[in-house]
Amino acid sequence: MHQNKLFNQTRGRLAGWYAVVMGVTLSLSGLVTYQMVAYSHWHAVEQELESVSGTLHDNLESKLRQPGKLEPSVVAALPGLCLANQSCSQQPGNAGRHVLGIVQQNGYYLRFLDQSGQAIALLGQFPGETSADIQEGWKTVKDSDGTRYQQISLLLKTADGTPWGYMQVGRSLKEYDDHLTTLWWLFLIGLPAGIVLVGGTGWWLAGLSMKPIYQSYERMQQFTADAAHELRTPVAAIRATVEAAQDIHPLSEAEIQDTLAVVARQNKRLAQLVQDLLLLSRMDQQTYPIKYSVCCLNDLVVDLVEELFVLEIAKAIKLTHQIRVNEPLFVMGDEAQLSRLISNLITNALQYTLDGGKVTVILERDDHHALIHVQDTGIGIAPANQTRIFDRFYRVNSDRSRHTGGAGLGLAIAKAIVKTHKGSLDVQSELGKGSTFIIRLPLKSNANS
Ligand code: ADP
Repeated sequence: MHQNKLFNQTRGRLAGWYAVVMGVTLSLSGLVTYQMVAYSHWHAVEQELESVSGTLHDNLESKLRQPGKLEPSVVAALPGLCLANQSCSQQPGNAGRHVLGIVQQNGYYLRFLDQSGQAIALLGQFPGETSADIQEGWKTVKDSDGTRYQQISLLLKTADGTPWGYMQVGRSLKEYDDHLTTLWWLFLIGLPAGIVLVGGTGWWLAGLSMKPIYQSYERMQQFTADAAHELRTPVAAIRATVEAAQDIHPLSEAEIQDTLAVVARQNKRLAQLVQDLLLLSRMDQQTYPIKYSVCCLNDLVVDLVEELFVLEIAKAIKLTHQIRVNEPLFVMGDEAQLSRLISNLITNALQYTLDGGKVTVILERDDHHALIHVQDTGIGIAPANQTRIFDRFYRVNSDRSRHTGGAGLGLAIAKAIVKTHKGSLDVQSELGKGSTFIIRLPLKSNANS
């Protein structure tokens, strides 16, 4: 759709705000998810270390006799254990499997220290310095490559309860850190991609929701332009007439009368136009004061046909009515509006029917509706124009219609009145043969009478 700058700006702003709000929401939920994943993994690492160190601690304490000295049974129970005074291969875990084999996997280490913090034995690869200040509990250490290790230190006691030294169990956090780094990258790449996607979706959604507003805005603009155009014609005619009269000195009585007649005619046209525009705008805003009452359509049709029959134009055209019901048909409605509706259709029929033609107004009913047919043997309306004639200011042949004084609002007003009365207005027409306009109004139900 062709859109103007204001609508494009608003659409862009809506899409932008949508992207910002969604971006903040996505970032927050991403951060919360990241923290939760990090926490649960960390918790799992600590739990594993706690359970391994707890089992080792309980197993070993019963075997220890002398502080700072590992009994041969302990050394035998931990294949691959390298004592401080030995030089041994740094590859643990190949010398056999122990029940606590988990510490013999790569990435784990087990260290024994005496009470002063001097290393006694090591299983696996220790990442930090050979001696460390001993503190019971958790510690995170880093090796020279920057790999982090989580370590727990526990105090060991001999079988008789004398402090023996310390045991440290640690595991590499490489897997944990890699996992979190991957998550972080996913977040960093996914967030801008998500925001771009949301921005695009926002732009599309904003366009979709603004389409009806834009169409109605365009209709209003068209309406204003058409109204201004229609108002300009009588205004210009009055000005030209007055200016011409001003140039003539002195004005004869006949010229004065002619001038006044033109001004009065144009003024009447102007007043009618303004009144019609006001009526339409009030009906649009639903501020038109509708005085609902029980209306008898039989009386309305008969009275209108009689009234219009006396019009000059009606003289060469046979205007009649046919009441095809035996009982009076009642509808709830505003009598003045209903009268305007039917008379608009009859005057149109009279206007667009050539001399010698016929205009018949038929009143009948179906189960729940009263039907009024305004039938003429006039010029007819081409199928392509049949939907457009109800548009404001639309005239099939503007020159001819302007000559008849119509601004193209008659059918628009008729449609609006029918809509207010919850009815419908349709047309059936054939070019050169005539047209039938059919009003359908809900009958007043007996329950309400
Ligand atoms: P207008 O003031 O021009 O009559 P309307 O809204 O009443 O405006 O009608 C719109 C157009 O529909 C008219 O200009 C005319 O071309 C066409 N029209 C309306 N009624 C008839 C009819 N009975 N027969 C043929 N054309 C009609």
